[in-house]
Amino acid sequence: MRRVTILGATGSIGQNTIDLIDRDPEGFEVVALTGGRNIARLAEDARRLRAQLAVTADEALLPDLRAALQGSGVEAAAGAQALCEAASRPADWVMSAIVGFAGLAPGLAALEQGTVLALANKESLVTAGPLVMETARRHGATILPVDSEHSAVFQAMAGQDVAAVERVIITASGGAFRDWPLERLAHATPEEAATHPNWDMGQRITIDSASMFNKALEVIETHEFFGTDPDRIEVLVHPESLVHALVGYRDGGLMAHVGPPDMRHAIGYALNWPERHALPVERLDLAAIGQLTFRAPDEARWPALRLAREVIRRGGLSGAVFNAAKEEALDLFLARRIGFMDMATVVERSMERVFAQPGHIDAEISLDNIVAIDHLARDTARHSVGSDTRRRS
Ligand code: NDP
Repeated sequence: MRRVTILGATGSIGQNTIDLIDRDPEGFEVVALTGGRNIARLAEDARRLRAQLAVTADEALLPDLRAALQGSGVEAAAGAQALCEAASRPADWVMSAIVGFAGLAPGLAALEQGTVLALANKESLVTAGPLVMETARRHGATILPVDSEHSAVFQAMAGQDVAAVERVIITASGGAFRDWPLERLAHATPEEAATHPNWDMGQRITIDSASMFNKALEVIETHEFFGTDPDRIEVLVHPESLVHALVGYRDGGLMAHVGPPDMRHAIGYALNWPERHALPVERLDLAAIGQLTFRAPDEARWPALRLAREVIRRGGLSGAVFNAAKEEALDLFLARRIGFMDMATVVERSMERVFAQPGHIDAEISLDNIVAIDHLARDTARHSVGSDTRRRS
């Protein structure tokens, strides 16, 4: 019986994790579930799975959560501190699937109890990679990547001579606008950007896939998790989303990880690691699929990829700046205050402005400094609207 906690249980990754747990009720005991605003979902899952604790990030919703859990025996709590307390409750396995920077502190709290952390929240490694890895090392915790590409790299490296890795190739579907003419992209709407050709994911990551900000985060994540130099990380557009990553070794061999675009594979791999259990994912019929296609990414269409390499080159706290500016730019796009291609402009200008302020980027990588630079980068991004971008409405 594995004791599990799910941070971000009401989201896309959280629900896929619960789907797997629901199918194996003897295998898992649920310690804590956390959510944001979806109280009905959180309370229903906490009751059914007999969780000890359910936490909403939103303190104003605590009375609703208490009411929904009445008589269930599940404790209710709310707020940022309560999220960290949920992550600290003794558990064998914690899923980190809160979206955005808000996932960092609870993820660190889970690592401090020396557990296995299944890491879907890519922002943790992007904003605080060295801190996350060092916290895991200090507390004897294990991090398992859940992003499909990084799970694929992890699996393609398992049992291999890691010192012989020459390059890591992560694939990208290209998102909703892969084949749109460049000039049309400026007019793309949030609704159009929020549809994905292959994967069914949360709204923010789906739009980040269309802009390749998601892939940019993954390039940084690859560098932080596997220690791969940026010039050895390649991005390959692969519209079918079946080959998730490839690892190239110095003898010229490439180990590819191939599977259906279903997050339950990567989640299930981490959930059962180091064993492999049967998972309810489609078995690929490669003969029926017939062909797999690949092409190089066009950096004019996806400037985020260039910015990711700049972040790795600058190091220090630059990942936190990149992530914060990206989250703000996405909010501005969702609010229709900037256009789709303006998101990259906002991020690039914010990076230039924050990087130009002496001391910030090179400060110690601590939670306090990351929070401070996150605020600075968000302010900078908000104030860059109008000076560099076209207002839309
Ligand atoms: P969703 O938006 O579907 O879910 C996000 C979860 O976080 C929900 O439980 C949400 O609660 C909760 N949440 C939102 N804001 C806050 C906050 N401020 N504090 C605490 N909790 C909050 O996201 P996804 O499941 O798609 O993604 C989760 C993470 O996993 C992201 O970092 C993403 O990049 C990564 N990831 C996702 C993949 C996917 O296939 N979806 C693939 C690989 C990585 P509520 O809904 O109740 O408001």
